[in-house]
Amino acid sequence: MFSSGTLMVIAGPSGAGKTTLAHHLVDTFDRATFSVSATTRAPRGEEADGEDYFFISHDEFAQKVEDSFFLEWAEVHGNRYGTPGKWVREKLASGYSVVLDIDVQGAIQVKKSVPSAVLVFVLPRGRNVLLKRLRGRNTDSEKTIEGRMEAADWEVSRLGAFDYFIQNCGLEQSQHDIETIFTAERMKLSGMGWPDAAIEFVPEKFTGLENWKGKQVLVSSGPTREMIDDVRFISNRSSGLMGVSLAEAFLAAGAEVTLVSGPAAVMNPPGAVELVRVQSAADMKRALQERCRGTDLLVMAAAVSDYAPETRLSGKLKRSEGKMSIALSSTEDVLASMKGNFRTLAFALEYGDEARGRAEAKMERKGADAVFLNRGDLPGQGMESSVNAGSVLFPDGSEIIVPAGSKKFVAFCIAAALGRRFS
Ligand code: ADP
Ligand code: 5GP
Repeated sequence: MFSSGTLMVIAGPSGAGKTTLAHHLVDTFDRATFSVSATTRAPRGEEADGEDYFFISHDEFAQKVEDSFFLEWAEVHGNRYGTPGKWVREKLASGYSVVLDIDVQGAIQVKKSVPSAVLVFVLPRGRNVLLKRLRGRNTDSEKTIEGRMEAADWEVSRLGAFDYFIQNCGLEQSQHDIETIFTAERMKLSGMGWPDAAIEFVPEKFTGLENWKGKQVLVSSGPTREMIDDVRFISNRSSGLMGVSLAEAFLAAGAEVTLVSGPAAVMNPPGAVELVRVQSAADMKRALQERCRGTDLLVMAAAVSDYAPETRLSGKLKRSEGKMSIALSSTEDVLASMKGNFRTLAFALEYGDEARGRAEAKMERKGADAVFLNRGDLPGQGMESSVNAGSVLFPDGSEIIVPAGSKKFVAFCIAAALGRRFS
């Protein structure tokens, strides 16, 4: 069974017990590992390069920031620290869980680029206990400790951005707590692919998935936002669940996956998926064009706006009595503008009797290699629903029917159907 690793981020003030608990996790569980950060600070005592940190110069650090090498980076107590992005994603894709012991600013950044990351905040019983632990560690001067206590006040003010809280009093209890969090997170269905036990019920639906191993897949997802002013926008009801489910299906099949998502309610693909956030149809087009080179398959699950306001007003448009109108103009067709040596799957949400004909016409107009037709007028499925159904249509007139199921099930069926056709 495929299982994407969990990205666990343990943060909290210096002296809270992060390192103690992070080591406990890695020592206790199979397939859990630490990420080794890069830092500009000098090695202390017995610290070894490549083991405790990668010790690098300020110039090297700046170059890595420029090259987008880091998943996150921050300045902490006067030095810079950063987590290597590619290494973390590769580990997660190979099923390893990765534990980060980083500062609070870094943890918050990680959540932005990897929304499925699990953020744990660690704090002793009170300020005095923290002070005592910092002194007891015998590694810092009184002045350094004073600075760390001041930083702790800021860090605690960011507590609400975390998923879990551990009050680190008795060490045994805290170790038990972090084990519980880790175990529960690893049992989550999201990130687990489609379990073997479940595949056994409809094995033929999943045949073809194996053909995506080692391939590159680019998935677009969610709605777009076309801004009217700095507050209001035009958008649609797409939740992003179908796109996230497709990203998970191709990842589980062994592909390297990038998800370009508009501001969707669901935007938490497994950590091994590279997530790119965009806003408008124009942003989405740019992001996809930048990333489509080398891709084997482009999946256009996003509900891209067909129209955008002609001008965006700055600030917030004042209320006034009576009617108002907003001039709209059509946006550029994203899929039709994408050129390259890759296959494309379009999505068509259609209503009424002529649904199939319109989906086929859309496939032709956009030059797509397949289209997934789902119906907007059938009860309990489609947009804002967790359930979907439909059929994958091909230019030769053939069709593969995808029976009703969770969007995750439908996503695996679509990925398998394309694997059978395109291999
Ligand atoms: P951090 O990584 O957050 O800076 P450490 O894990 O280095 O914190 O812990 C700070 C100090 O407190 C260490 O000396 C550690 O052994 C000690 N410590 C950690 N957890 C506890 C606990 N529950 N009870 C007592 N001492 C603890
Ligand atoms: P130290 O220099 O004592 O090893 O670490 C100082 C602080 O930097 C700790 O709070 C530690 O968690 C944090 N830190 C270590 N590596 C990283 C990293 O890669 N990113 C961020 N943001 N913080 C880090």
